Amino acid sequence: MSKYVYKFYNNNAEGGAKQKDLLGSKGANLAEMSNLGLPIPPGFTISTEASNYFFDNNQTLPNSLKQEVKKAIGELEKNLSKNFGDPKNPLLFSVRSGARESMPGMMDSILNLGLNDETVYGLEKFTSNKRFALDSYRRFIQMYGDIVLNIEHQRFEAVIDNRKRIVNKEEDRDLDEEDFEWIINAYKNTIERFSGEKFPQDPEIQLTNAISSVFNSWMNPRAQTYRKINNIPDTWGTGVTVQSMVFGNLNDNSGTGVAFTRNPSNGDKVLFGEYLINAQGEDVVAGLRTPFPITKEKEKKGKSLEEKMPDIYSEIEEMSKKLEDHYKDMQDIEFTIENGKLFLLQTREGKRSAEASIRIAVDMVEEKLINKKTALLRVKSSDIDNLLHPTIKPGSKKKLFGKGLNASPGAAKGVIAFSAESAEELSAKGLSVILVREETSPEDIQGMFSSRGIITTKGGMTSHAAVVARGMGRPCIVGAEELSIDNEKYTLSSKESTIEEGEYITIDGTTGEIFLGDLETIDTEPIDQYKTIMDWADEYRRLEIRANAETLLDTEKAINFGAEGIGLCRTEHMFFEGERIIFMREMIMAENKQGRKKALSKILEFQREDFIQLFNTLEGKPITVRFLDPPMHEFLPSGDIELKEVAESSGISFGYAKEKSIKLGESNPMLGHRGVRLAISYPEIYKMQARAVFEALIETNKKNKFSTNLEIMIPLVATGKELSIIKEDIQNTCKKVERENKTEIDYKLGTMIELPSAALRASEISEYADFFSYGTNDLTQTTLGLSRDDSGKFLDDYINENIFTNDPFASIDIEAVGKLVEIATKEGLKGNKKLKIGICGEHGGDPESIKFFEKIKLDYVSCSPYRIPIARLSAAQASIEQG
Ligand code: PEP
Ligand code: MG
Repeated sequence: MSKYVYKFYNNNAEGGAKQKDLLGSKGANLAEMSNLGLPIPPGFTISTEASNYFFDNNQTLPNSLKQEVKKAIGELEKNLSKNFGDPKNPLLFSVRSGARESMPGMMDSILNLGLNDETVYGLEKFTSNKRFALDSYRRFIQMYGDIVLNIEHQRFEAVIDNRKRIVNKEEDRDLDEEDFEWIINAYKNTIERFSGEKFPQDPEIQLTNAISSVFNSWMNPRAQTYRKINNIPDTWGTGVTVQSMVFGNLNDNSGTGVAFTRNPSNGDKVLFGEYLINAQGEDVVAGLRTPFPITKEKEKKGKSLEEKMPDIYSEIEEMSKKLEDHYKDMQDIEFTIENGKLFLLQTREGKRSAEASIRIAVDMVEEKLINKKTALLRVKSSDIDNLLHPTIKPGSKKKLFGKGLNASPGAAKGVIAFSAESAEELSAKGLSVILVREETSPEDIQGMFSSRGIITTKGGMTSHAAVVARGMGRPCIVGAEELSIDNEKYTLSSKESTIEEGEYITIDGTTGEIFLGDLETIDTEPIDQYKTIMDWADEYRRLEIRANAETLLDTEKAINFGAEGIGLCRTEHMFFEGERIIFMREMIMAENKQGRKKALSKILEFQREDFIQLFNTLEGKPITVRFLDPPMHEFLPSGDIELKEVAESSGISFGYAKEKSIKLGESNPMLGHRGVRLAISYPEIYKMQARAVFEALIETNKKNKFSTNLEIMIPLVATGKELSIIKEDIQNTCKKVERENKTEIDYKLGTMIELPSAALRASEISEYADFFSYGTNDLTQTTLGLSRDDSGKFLDDYINENIFTNDPFASIDIEAVGKLVEIATKEGLKGNKKLKIGICGEHGGDPESIKFFEKIKLDYVSCSPYRIPIARLSAAQASIEQG
């Protein structure tokens, strides 16, 4: 026969903290605390297995449960010298939910169970307080009506309000015993009227129905939503804790409160919490009375528990220490004082701010409570994120305007601008700007840089806007599909309202929320303990951490954040910036090779200079320079004015330029003439880039003590043959530059693996490569056949339907994309045993994906500068977890 009931009392509990799966977190901790000898009101927990039975069997309780409950109550009765249903000395219970992970306020609880028309007078006798006994009874009837019988709680509140009105009309006084008797009768009538049944007087029936109702609350809509958001499966079920009542609302020598063993906002090692005299836990939650601080505070002199009940305060302090020593973590405790005696009702790991999380982890290592590995596992990557980005000031009055995907974290406010140009203009006037576009393109870079934050109404987590904003550390929201831009009226509309260019909004890139108006944001300075955690992370991680960066600013930032080199330097911006785009257009419009070479020679000079600066900043740290990747299509002149400009500067007719531009246009450019394919058609492009990096390397090495650690990377390779052709071109260019400069050049050549074909042909490709770097953005796009720029529109549907658990552009799709990565790693090493292997797609900064990259033993991950600290921590966590 299955066992469903687990008792906890007086050093004699069945189960303990490790059995959260079976007993729920509350039940497991109550058992653990009982065994620690802490003052816990005795009781028993009905297991999550009973909850699962309940839902598998048409919401019925297991047959054997009744007997088990009866037996447990019998033991409690002996233990407490009180009897369930005894009119003289009644045993009363609270019945509470408790899942494996705490789901605050999502499910139901019932207090004072066991009261009826007779036992209420037993309670009166026991407490010598008739008003209290009657008030407890009316609270119970109300909770029972609300939770078991689903009668709207307003119906009960109306009864009380009604009585209060009558009382206040006649005389100004609190409700008395007679009033409560009146209310109890009215409540019973309300129950009969709205449920068609009488309020049950039999405590056993009360209990059975309460247990079923608490189980049922596992499936109420708010609990279901909470589980969805927090990835808690329905199959966990909830435990039900039936615990003997203690009363914090008995008299002025009683009270209730919540205490954190350390300050949950800043991590200080002092008790922190609030309490109310003469109140039940529910009064604190309901917020009807303002609680006072537990610990002495200057501004609230004389009001704290420390001052009012110093003995109780010291007892709580002692228990906190005992709990922390035992659980080795900060605890959040619920306590009740009944007539001067302290009881603990619950303990759980305390939720804490980012700052507190890091402080407590480091402090506890210093206090020798935990070791460094445990400290590293305690800090969440979101803590690091929150610590390094501005956030909206807590307590701000927010008016939600819209929502999108949280592409780049942090809060920003500013006036909206609908084009890169107007963002630049407004920002030049000294205004903070939020750039709002349908999508962005490389030509918007300057406008994006001038803006404090970016919103796009289209696109997904690896769209241009998302990748670039993350790189720049700008908060960014993409795929805000419910917003629409009117580019003629210069307005932005949500379902409810419309705002104009120049009006203020505030965005939270961490949550994806967009708010109306100018909310206050606060900067967060990393605390000293942050550095300690990062140093420990470096001690324990195996993966090398590099950055995706191409500008000096980003490179400096990345090094400051702890990057060990650059794993992806996208060189396309070197072709777009300022007048370079004109030369690039000249190149693609040129009638022949000579024309192309002439245009490229101008770009060469810019690129060489750019590389010299980057190499100098890196001082010998490795840099993977990726040669030109975007589709030719992106460089085409976009209108007649630009066409005229190109025609003039390259000495061709406008007509020819227009014709060529139409010919070069592509309908599916991401699968078109881009990456290595450009160099197969126009070898002079990569030759020019090779010359630029080689000459920059010679120049930098000549003037410095370090030697530049150069890796050249070729994008969008699908076959070994492509790489072999390009390799020969680059080797020839290298030899030429070596001859011209009478020196030797040391460099490595590798390729991105970002097409399924490349992954499957990895062994053939690796013969020509010193390294592989997985471009998981394109590899996801091409493996799943899912556009990285457009899929934001419907990915939500896929996640809602559980087709994908996560956005595959944010967290790697292990089954398909991951499998290709595994195949390519194995095959690549077959072709070249010394092959170095890393990843430079956006997944390189995602904690879940990093676990996978650690598991398959890649050598490095590369991600946006602002994600470097997260990557360092996640890599350490992955290596600790995977041993
Ligand atoms: C990739 O495809 O994963 C990659 C890093 O290259 P890009 O994002 O520039 O296409
Ligand atoms: Mg790519």
